[in-house]
Amino acid sequence: MTDQTLPPQERTGYAVIGLGELTEAQLFPAFHLSQRSRLAALVSGDSNKAREQARRLGLSDADVYDYDHFEDLRERADVQAVFIVLPNSLHREFTERAARIGKQVLCEKPLAVSVQDAEAMVRVCAEAGVLLMTAYRIQYTPHHQLARELMESGQLGRVKLLDAVNVQTEPNEGQWRLKRALAGGGSLPDVGLYCLNTARYLIGEEPYEVFAWTHSTPGDPRFAEVEESVSFTLRFPSGVVSNNLCSYGAAHHRSLRVLAERANLTLDPAFDYTNLRIRNDSQTEVKEYLVKEADQFALELDHFSACVQSGRQPFTPGEEGLQDVRIIAAIYQSAAEGRPVQLQRFEGRDVFRGQPPERAERERS
Ligand code: NDP
Repeated sequence: MTDQTLPPQERTGYAVIGLGELTEAQLFPAFHLSQRSRLAALVSGDSNKAREQARRLGLSDADVYDYDHFEDLRERADVQAVFIVLPNSLHREFTERAARIGKQVLCEKPLAVSVQDAEAMVRVCAEAGVLLMTAYRIQYTPHHQLARELMESGQLGRVKLLDAVNVQTEPNEGQWRLKRALAGGGSLPDVGLYCLNTARYLIGEEPYEVFAWTHSTPGDPRFAEVEESVSFTLRFPSGVVSNNLCSYGAAHHRSLRVLAERANLTLDPAFDYTNLRIRNDSQTEVKEYLVKEADQFALELDHFSACVQSGRQPFTPGEEGLQDVRIIAAIYQSAAEGRPVQLQRFEGRDVFRGQPPERAERERS
């Protein structure tokens, strides 16, 4: 393992936009664990909360910005990047505003709530000459990287099927996740996106057809605006079929199986932040891999910082997030029309991805 820890002045400085649950519980600790990234500013609509957090994190009141004064960050040479951790429908606005003041953009998933928004985000960042990365932590996680390597190596035989489940119960607390205008959809763009994106990442190809169903319990007020559950099937050019289930109405379960000719891989849990497990079942043995766990958010942060520092395209750029937004739109179309929907065909592997993270980046914890 190579220690890549940079001194503070050489790290990429970030303004984190939106101090909600993910920021406080996962991203602040990830900055602490990162080797190439530095928390430099907070952007929030709640100045009291932001000032309190700033003091706790070793920042000052001068490092706190509100949404209206976001552009003041233009003057901060020590802030090279922003991390957008806002409700989904606000991702586009802040990506465009950040690009206009020359900041590199790391944006939470889903990239946007519509294809039009996602396309605009990719275009505006390209025109401004700033990087745009979709924060897909799963693609920087050692367990999923191992699964992909095992699939590519041929050790499992030909991969036939993937089967992914990501379900949870979403309480009705006036959550923005249950409001269409803010979330863009229900369980699909939130938890179902993990099934979709992980299938695309593991298989490495782009699906060419999708067939889907949605269901919401009649009369449940949580699902007045967005769907509760989605079942969707994707077909890939090499013949692999991926079956996916997501829901806001079922008790927490997150698993993924890869079914291949000679052996099957099981990731269970597959999408949690910690304690992921990966098992290989063949006819002769059951093998559980010991994979060194690393903080998923620190890994993705440091990957983006490495890209900012070297000028290279991230492994999960805006185009990677845009492709998922396109497929999500096709999933909804298929469910609405009750028929399979064809997607644009793409040949080759990793067509929307940049260079993979270096091994040292991912094995460093
Ligand atoms: P929260 O609701 O906990 O936080 C969102 C924050 O956004 C709020 O605290 C608030 O911060 C700010 N905000 C600005 N405008 C609004 C508004 N109109 N309504 C609500 N909040 C607003 O959400 P999460 O932190 O769970 O999610 C944020 C983003 O991160 C989403 O895009 C989500 O999909 C993504 N996410 C990704 C995960 C992953 O594993 N990669 C896991 C969880 C979420 P303030 O008070 O500072 O202004």
